[in-house]
Amino acid sequence: MNSPQNQDSYNEMLSAIQAFHDKHDFKGTGGEDLPYRVALMAEELGEISSAITKGKSNQQLAEECADLMILVMGTAIAANFDLKQSFWKKMDKLMKRESKMINGKIRVSEFRDVN
Ligand SMILES: [Mg+2]
Repeated sequence: MNSPQNQDSYNEMLSAIQAFHDKHDFKGTGGEDLPYRVALMAEELGEISSAITKGKSNQQLAEECADLMILVMGTAIAANFDLKQSFWKKMDKLMKRESKMINGKIRVSEFRDVN
C-alpha cells in the first residue's frame, strides 16, 4: 500500500484500515465481529505490556501500539461509530476533570463518591 499524501489525516488512516478490512473481507468472515475484536485488542494490549516489561525496543513498543490503534479504529468501522467525533467529545470532557494523586500516581477521573 502506498502512503497517502497527508499522513496526518484521520480520514486517510481510516480509509487505509477500511481497505485492509475489504482486502480480507472482514465483514463477511467474522473479522468485524465485536467480541472477536475485543479478544484481538486484549492480545495486542498484552503485546504492549510485554514490550515494556520485557525491556524491548521503543520501536517494538511503537509497533504494538500501532497494532492496537489499527484495531481500535477498525472497531469504529465494524460498530459504525464516528471515533474522531467521540475522541474530541471525550477530550473536552477529560480536560474539564479534576486530578488527584493516588498511591503516588496522578489520576484524572470524575471521583464520584461511592457511598
Ligand atoms: Mg502486535
